Amino acid sequence: MATSLLRIPPPQGLLRPLAVPERLLLGPGPSNVPPRILAAGSRQLLGHMHPEVLQVMDEIKAGIQYAFQTQNRLTLAISGTGHCAMEAALLNLLEHGDTTMVAVNGIWGQRAADIARRLGANVHELLKPPGEYFTLWDIEEGLVQHKPLVLFITHGESSTGVLQPLEGLGELCHRHGCLLLVDAVASLGGAPIFMDQQEIDVLYSGSQKVLNAPPGSAPISFSERAREKMLRRKMQPPSFYLDMGWLANYWGCDGEARRYHHTAPINSFFSLREGLAMLAELGLESSWERHRANCTQLCQGLCDLGLELFVKEEKARLPTITTVSVPEGYDWKEITAFLMDNHAIEIAGGLGPSVGKVLRIGLMGCNSTSSNVDRVLRALQDALRRCRRSRL
Ligand code: PMP
Repeated sequence: MATSLLRIPPPQGLLRPLAVPERLLLGPGPSNVPPRILAAGSRQLLGHMHPEVLQVMDEIKAGIQYAFQTQNRLTLAISGTGHCAMEAALLNLLEHGDTTMVAVNGIWGQRAADIARRLGANVHELLKPPGEYFTLWDIEEGLVQHKPLVLFITHGESSTGVLQPLEGLGELCHRHGCLLLVDAVASLGGAPIFMDQQEIDVLYSGSQKVLNAPPGSAPISFSERAREKMLRRKMQPPSFYLDMGWLANYWGCDGEARRYHHTAPINSFFSLREGLAMLAELGLESSWERHRANCTQLCQGLCDLGLELFVKEEKARLPTITTVSVPEGYDWKEITAFLMDNHAIEIAGGLGPSVGKVLRIGLMGCNSTSSNVDRVLRALQDALRRCRRSRL
């Protein structure tokens, strides 16, 4: 009898069929992927240097330029999730010893500060309580005090549900010799942003929120000012994979022949292309209006259920992700589990500084519909009836 050298048997779980239940994803992302984008992602593979793939990349680039409202040459999609774009932005912009200011009013500022510290930057955190946003005055005070080279701020703070106003911020930063870096992972396509007009130097987003593509690719763009800072670097960026010089070449942004850098996640690019195409077909203004209207309907319904909106000022509410305070007498985990088990709907609890304080409901891209608002409100009404804790 032949004796096998194998000591590890094939895992039982892999011998069963893949199990993927139907769920309505109304958390802070990912959101559901519509059939057209699913179909694009399941097309047959092509090579990562084939002209047809390079053409799709060019179309993605144009789609990002539209979604960001920018003419920046250095515009592309990172092969990775939103965090990867965050790291790409910070590690290409910052050098060891550079002073940076990070606006922290939720988890994303905390994470950016963490990444910047790992890069050896001199990091100053500008703090606001979760649920609040920064005024131009807050920022100017920090710019005067710390004289940073880069300011990081989050447009759609998905851990708290806050929409950060950006008007005048780029101009203010530039007056103080600072570059403006904005995270729009949770807001792109759901709330107005104008990269060029608002003088944003680096802007990035993600594929799995309003764009309704699977996670794994992340739009990013650099202004001429940001490009110049990168050109003045004394040391190469500390990551080869995320080196913007290499990526610019692969994406055809530097006018030179395109060279292999990494094997792009080609099918993720097909999906992202379709997500951007759907946004282009709908039009940015209609998309912003759709998110605003459905968010307003949701907020009204939540108030009618007796829930308290976490962000008090209406204009500071993120149209893609709505936060409510965890109601008195309830455990947030029971509510989220109830919706999942009984209604096949995902909503989320808080994240980072908002853990235990809020429930988060996301309505992004194709998921932002009036009927989904009705569905989640009915499910929440059911949960409020069934999850009340008698002893709390
Ligand atoms: N920034 C914001 C504002 C986000 O909402 C997220 C995702 N929740 C990220 C960054 C990180 O993106 P990812 O999970 O795709 O890495």
